[in-house]
Amino acid sequence: MENLNWAEPIRNSTTGMKIIDISLPLSKKTIVYPGDLKISIKKHKGKTSTHSEITFGSHTGTHLDAPSHVFKNAPGVDKIDLKKMIGNCRVLDMTHVKESIRIVDFRKEKIKKGERILVKTNNSFKGFKKFRNNYIYLDGDAAEYLAKRKISLFGIDYLTVKQKGSSDTRAHDVLLKNKIVIVESIDLSKVKPGKYTFVGLPLKFTGLDGSPIRAVLIKK
Ligand SMILES: [Zn+2]
Repeated sequence: MENLNWAEPIRNSTTGMKIIDISLPLSKKTIVYPGDLKISIKKHKGKTSTHSEITFGSHTGTHLDAPSHVFKNAPGVDKIDLKKMIGNCRVLDMTHVKESIRIVDFRKEKIKKGERILVKTNNSFKGFKKFRNNYIYLDGDAAEYLAKRKISLFGIDYLTVKQKGSSDTRAHDVLLKNKIVIVESIDLSKVKPGKYTFVGLPLKFTGLDGSPIRAVLIKK
């Protein structure tokens, strides 16, 4: 088995399909939102096989937020419409943004109903090694703007869509209330803005408020 290179880039020889992995690696070193549980992994080595005990928060690494993250008795990750998690998406260039993504930044993009929108900001370049308080976030008015356009998914390249410590919670509330899936902690540092196919499925935890996903983009 030693000769197998498991990390070989995945290419489909018949279609030339190229898959870009936009998920964060999960390990004890993965950064978490301040106050969240860190990942812990305990290996149990048996005679013939290895099992591990893993502990992590539901919003660890690349993950989605379910409506039950902010609303009582709201759907959990197992009730997310999986059609929203597979299909066309657009990566928008927001690398010019200095503080928050605002309506003016979306206006020129002509956002359409049902779109999956991922935003590439400077967060991707600053990396995910150490938590930063001054990350780029989604402005509350801009969240309302996206909800009015009835997009189906919104993804951002940091641990949360909302400004840290802000009392304006619309970035979470308005999107989730309008059944827009929020995807957080995607790494777009190697992704050029443009059109892709997005795939990212949550684990089927009953009623849970969030779940890690393995998110990939497929180049068209
Ligand atoms: Zn989250």
